[in-house]
Amino acid sequence: MEDVRKRYSGNIVAVDDFNLDIDDGEFVTIVGPSGSGKSTILRMIAGLEDITEGAIYIGNQRINDVQPQDRDIAMVFQNYALYPHMTVEQNMSYGLKLNSDRSNEQIEKGVREAAEMMGIEEQLDKRPSELSGGQQQRVATGRAIVRDPSVFLMDEPLSNLDAKLRAHMRTELQRIQEELNTTTVYVTHDQEEAMTMSDQVVILNHGELQQVGTPREVFSEPKNTFVAEFIGSPSMNFFDVQLLDSTLTGSDIAYSLSESFAGRIRKQSTNDKLILGIRPEHMSFADESTSNGIKAVLEVREPIGDDNYLYLRSGDTEFKMRVLGQIDCSEGDNIHVSFEESDAHIFDHSTGENILLTDSTSIVTSDATTQTK
Ligand code: ADP
Repeated sequence: MEDVRKRYSGNIVAVDDFNLDIDDGEFVTIVGPSGSGKSTILRMIAGLEDITEGAIYIGNQRINDVQPQDRDIAMVFQNYALYPHMTVEQNMSYGLKLNSDRSNEQIEKGVREAAEMMGIEEQLDKRPSELSGGQQQRVATGRAIVRDPSVFLMDEPLSNLDAKLRAHMRTELQRIQEELNTTTVYVTHDQEEAMTMSDQVVILNHGELQQVGTPREVFSEPKNTFVAEFIGSPSMNFFDVQLLDSTLTGSDIAYSLSESFAGRIRKQSTNDKLILGIRPEHMSFADESTSNGIKAVLEVREPIGDDNYLYLRSGDTEFKMRVLGQIDCSEGDNIHVSFEESDAHIFDHSTGENILLTDSTSIVTSDATTQTK
């Protein structure tokens, strides 16, 4: 996708200046909050929406003006969009019988193979109303597989399933995608789905690309506070700090950095107002005498099996901590918390940019197509 922009009537810019390169056979997930432009991107690739500006290519072909049915794409929708009066077999074969030059025998063979792949070969004579939600999902995916397209487009295909089945289907879809090696663009608002399934994660906010990267990259090298907060659960904690000499200083925070780490911050930032980001699982209890840490009060403690989620407050800042195992503290206790320097993320207070990445080449700059490692 090259400089793609989508403006709906009423001057709503749903997608702006969007650049993305997807390699053949890649599984790419587009993730972002509701209204960030995910479905619009998918629908533009499918040809269900016109593109206001820019270009979309599949292989070497510019497809802006190619009719949806000629784009060699198969789409799986959230609501499955199965025909209620047709059997599973008919649902899976109908599209191909309508517009492909395959013989009936070829189509039947394809349907059988896709049904086996999806584990629904026993259901071929049933109608959608006789199937569970999970089975309907399999039929919708099977129908896309039969088409043997160059690209699968999936729009929140698992969001109508319960949590357990959703986790199971994630693994199944991944397995099938690896087996078929068909380029897949998958849209979800669920960062966990994006992080567990994809080769590359594309993070959108307000129609603008925030970052493209592998799940590991977007988790450990978030480009800005939006990505840092959106990816990972529970979310990253943020604290307002300043760098005074080599100490990150905030209300109830003092953390002496190594000279090299402080030097990197000074080199990249002229703004002395910073945001310190630490993930809840990267925080640990510290000795009261420590000079490196955050003073806080434990407000709520949530034991979840072997895990504990602690909700704390430091001055006006609320934050979370995740600690494994038995812990010896109660609500209302004063607590000292610390972290490893290497787990600290530093953002510019006014732009929200991760300033330690501005000298790195592993992230996307304004042109997502020139991503390098
Ligand atoms: P997402 O899939 O991330 O929830 P969408 O792509 O559906 O986001 O929508 C992006 C933005 O475009 C939203 O502000 C939405 O209200 C707007 N939008 C989507 N479809 C239309 C439409 N047909 N007409 C006008 N605005 C639309």
